[in-house]
Amino acid sequence: MSIKRAIITLACVLAAIYLVMGSGLFRRARWSNNYSPCKIELRQLDSAKTQWATEGGKTTNDVPTWNELQPYWRRTPACPQGGNYTLGRVGEPPTCSVHGRDQQPTSTTAK
Ligand SMILES: [Zn+2]
Repeated sequence: MSIKRAIITLACVLAAIYLVMGSGLFRRARWSNNYSPCKIELRQLDSAKTQWATEGGKTTNDVPTWNELQPYWRRTPACPQGGNYTLGRVGEPPTCSVHGRDQQPTSTTAK
């Protein structure tokens, strides 16, 4: 008897989870899931730039090339939504053409 009740309760919980996943809550979660990987990639780019600058004795006005940063990551950073990354100078954070800088999603790309 109690086992049967437990099974019914479990079924209700699963149904509730299924409903939540189909609702707007899940869609909002998906947006942030799409953004966070990009943020991680941008951080990877930024730390590679910092390492490159430190080891090469660069100034904040130096601009690294993708080839020069290659040794500092295992896999080339890429935006999960197909955005293009701009490395920029050492003194400024890299930007994504879709997500902007490592802060919040922006519709317009900073120059
Ligand atoms: Zn991006």
